[in-house]
Order: sequence, then structure tokens, then C-alpha cells
Amino acid sequence: MKKEQITKKNNFFILLAIAFIAGGCDLLDIFNDDATTYHIDDGLYKIRSLAGNYLSYDTGSVPNCSKQDQSNAWYLRKAAVNGYNLFKGRENSDTLDLNQNRDIEGNTVQLWYSFNNTPAQRWFFEQNSDGSYKIVTSNESGRVITDNGAAQITIKTYNNLNTQKWKIERVTGEEARFIKYRQIMRDVNKFNYDEIVIRNANGQTDASLKDKIAVNPNKENMIEGEYVVLHLPNNVWAQCQEPKKMIDAFDSVYEAEIELLGRSESIHDGKMVFLTDYNPTAAWMYAAWDYCAFSKGAAEDFLSSGNEWVRYEHPGWGVGHEIGHTMVSRGMGNLFTAYAGESWCNVFNIYALEKAGLKEFSRDFAAGTARTYYGDNNKYAQYAGRDYDTLSNAERVTDILAVNTFIFLKFPVLLIDTYGWDGMRTFFTKAANDNAGGVRTDAIQDKIDYMAVQLSLAYQMDLSYLLDYWRVSPSNTAKARIAHLPKERLIAANYGM
Ligand SMILES: [Zn+2]
Repeated sequence: MKKEQITKKNNFFILLAIAFIAGGCDLLDIFNDDATTYHIDDGLYKIRSLAGNYLSYDTGSVPNCSKQDQSNAWYLRKAAVNGYNLFKGRENSDTLDLNQNRDIEGNTVQLWYSFNNTPAQRWFFEQNSDGSYKIVTSNESGRVITDNGAAQITIKTYNNLNTQKWKIERVTGEEARFIKYRQIMRDVNKFNYDEIVIRNANGQTDASLKDKIAVNPNKENMIEGEYVVLHLPNNVWAQCQEPKKMIDAFDSVYEAEIELLGRSESIHDGKMVFLTDYNPTAAWMYAAWDYCAFSKGAAEDFLSSGNEWVRYEHPGWGVGHEIGHTMVSRGMGNLFTAYAGESWCNVFNIYALEKAGLKEFSRDFAAGTARTYYGDNNKYAQYAGRDYDTLSNAERVTDILAVNTFIFLKFPVLLIDTYGWDGMRTFFTKAANDNAGGVRTDAIQDKIDYMAVQLSLAYQMDLSYLLDYWRVSPSNTAKARIAHLPKERLIAANYGM
């Protein structure tokens, strides 16, 4: 805590509160009224000076001030050391940053594309007696962010001016959600605020939704479903005859996957953006920290492939796969994702496909994927999916997982097909809770051990044999932790163990 935040008044109240604690009195909420900077909850806020302007990023590259309120909310997050970090519209966007961290009169404040939590990116909110705040640099000088109107904001010595006093207003509900969706779209595709139209699909029909999309043929349409917020290029929306059904299909994939994770809906604040990334170098499809994306080619291919069922019963292998990645990374912190991590996301995908009545497709696709990647005759391809068990030990290679992680998928699929999904759900739920509770793994062996122990406990069977066979051997310490469980027999017997 900064020393100037401990005012005489605070010291008095702290002493008073300690006296009350000692006496068992419950007047602790006295702290809620003190003048420190730490009582602002993380979240989205509009920040407006008493001169009437919002702290703004309307112009794109530099922060300034503006009367425009619709696009100027900031995500405030308590910084790891002290103070707050401020981000444009969402937690992962550009950060408010003191130029070169030079705490000199009139220095500019900028937007920095990469978050590093240096002192330049930490700000104190010190409350005034009228409830407004000074926004002070983290450098002890007492200089504050000053509203310069349309010009770039600067820091100046506090002089009791209305341009140096800021009211903050929490943004919640639909407005906060829409600001976040827009900010992801703006960050990825450099759109202006006004180029994006967002509609909620709740209560809509295919016909009504189609009409709404057609109203803005030159804007980017995002449709918010129950779980997924979908953006497609307008030429693709125009081809889509049943947009409501399509949103429902995306929702059902997400719903199935989040259910398998123990309903940790907090991982995407309850809604996940799936957008089209127009950058020509974008990967075909990908999962980022807080959204998933089609490339333009993938989005167009998605509706021109002719597979009607893919669109409206399930949006296809790729969509479930990418959403699965976010379950594994964001939902479970990659606690057990050894090697390249292309297998566990597919376990979620397979579950969603089964729920959609496409179990056979899910198994065939999994088996065929490695062949697609490596060709029919490649030795690694032969290990994939259902053919893995036809190979002799001599044919297996020790670096198999490093080469083709789709091969490992056969292991969880055998577990599921032999013993059901409950153990898998228990395992994922445990990992989601551990991740939320701050558990971390780093080394590959730690990840393998986490998987071996928690998956064995979840299925109430010692799975060590199988993991040895799949070349992801648990350490002796991990094996000792599950040695009290009955050994898995049915799968092992098929492999001559
Ligand atoms: Zn992937």
C-alpha cells in the first residue's frame, strides 16, 4: 500500500476497528468508508470527469476524452502488485500506460498493446470527499490523469480541477456483455463501434432473425444465443436459411461441453464469442483465450459444404474442437495437457457429438483425423483411433505423443466406451475446481501425474498400466498414490496386459 493512502483519518479508524475486533464488536464495515483505493471490484466501468467527458478510446490509437458514452467503458482489474490495470472494453485488450513511465508534468498516457503490469500500467484510484476519484500514477509523485478534451490525456499535478476528478459507474448486464463482444470484434478485425450490430436470438424464429440480419447487410452481425455469440460474414448469413437453428446448434455444443466441465460457466462469463477473423493470415479455425474464430475461408466453407446436418444439428467437428480447447485451457488451466494438447479438446467434442446423436460420426472422425494429417500409409496414422489396438508393441514408438497427439485420443475414448462418461465428468469437474482454486502444473511430468492420479480417482481404478502403454508413464510417486485402487482390467486385457 502506498504510504500517502494511510491518512490520519484511516489510522484512527484502523485503531478503532482493532479495538472493536478485540471487543468482539461488528463495526468492521467502517473500512468500507475509508479512503484507500482497493474497494473497487474488478469489472467494466465508465469513467467520467466532473468536466463532463468520458475517458475514451474512440479515436483508436490514443486515449482522450469525449462526450460519447457508448463505446467508452474500461475494464478495471486489481493489479498483481498494487493499484489497478485499465483495459479497453475487455480484460485482454490494450492497456492504459504512462508513456515511458516518465512521471513528469504533461507526459502523455497511451494505449499499449501488450499487458506487462509494469508501474507504467498501474494506477491508483484515490477517493475525494465528494465521492469522485483522482487517478494517480503509481510513482508517488501525486500527478493525476487530466481530461484534455479531444486531445490525448496527460498527467499533471493535482490542482483540485474538475478535469482531474472522475466519477466511475459500473456497467453490467446486456450493456456490459455487448461492449465486450464489440471489443473482441474491434481488437481482431479493427472495426469501428458503429460497424457492429448485435442481436439477441432469444424468442426469435428463423424468419424473424433472418429479417433482422437483412436490415444491416453492410454491417457485421453478431447474434447472441444462450451460450454462444456468433458472428459470420454477411454473405454467409445470407445463405443461412435457418439462423435460429444454427445458433441453437452452437449453443447445444457449448452447453454439452460446459456440462461435462461441471457447469463452470464463469469461464466465459456465461457466453463465448465465436467470430470470423478477416485477417488473411488467420489460421483456418482457432481458439483464443476468450473467443474462438473462423477464418473467412472456414466461415464460407462452413455453409457451402452441403452438409445440412453439420449446420443445424451440430456445427461440425471444428467448432466442437475449438470450443473444447477453451474448456481445456481456460476451464482447466491445461493442468494435464501434456504435449501438444490436441486430444483432450476432442473428448469434449465427442461428448457434444454424442449428445447430438452423432456417436458413430464422432468415432469415425477421430480415427480418420490422423490419416488426414499424415496420409494413409504413414506409420503414425496407423496408431490413431480404433486401429491403435491392432498394432504390436514393436510397432509403437516412444515419441508417439510428441508426433501425433490424436493417437492418444484412443485412450480416453476407450475409457468412455467401457466405463461411461461419469468418471470423465468427475475428472474434468475436479480439474476445473482446482484451476479456479489456483492449482497449477508446469513440467510435463507434473501434468501426466495430475492426469494419472485424478483420472484414476475419478474412475476409481488404477490406470497406470494403460498410461504406461500409451507412453505417458506416471512417476513412481503418482503410482503410489493410486496403488490402493483396483487395477483397470477390461481394457488392459485387450492389450495383453
Ligand atoms: Zn486444435
